[in-house]
Amino acid sequence: MNGSLSCSAVNCVHNLSGLCSANKILVNGLSAQASTGTQCETFAEKGIKNALMHLTNMNIPGEIRQLFNNDGIHMYPEVACNAVRCRFNNDRKCEADRVLIMGAHANSSDGTYCETFTP
Ligand code: SF4
Repeated sequence: MNGSLSCSAVNCVHNLSGLCSANKILVNGLSAQASTGTQCETFAEKGIKNALMHLTNMNIPGEIRQLFNNDGIHMYPEVACNAVRCRFNNDRKCEADRVLIMGAHANSSDGTYCETFTP
């Protein structure tokens, strides 16, 4: 993905004001035919334990850039994706310009999905 990623999964340890602070995420949905068949596998519930466990996947330079340049999106993850029926999927990498991950009430990956999925 070369664009931006927004995410409503506010309970995720990587969520920073609706943006994703992970270096890389994985979207699952091998047999998905619609958005709701996908999940963000990288979701981890907010908390000290998960913050420490996922430290190596934290985009710290991106977070700093974002904090000091709040006029746009300066932080977005590389998106690997198993939803091979999505038109933006190229060899299990996402090539959409903008990705929106949903999951406002999610407490696990199961409560998330990629709204941008397009068959
Ligand atoms: S837009 Fe398509 S390829 Fe990109 S993450 Fe969502 S489901 Fe995967």
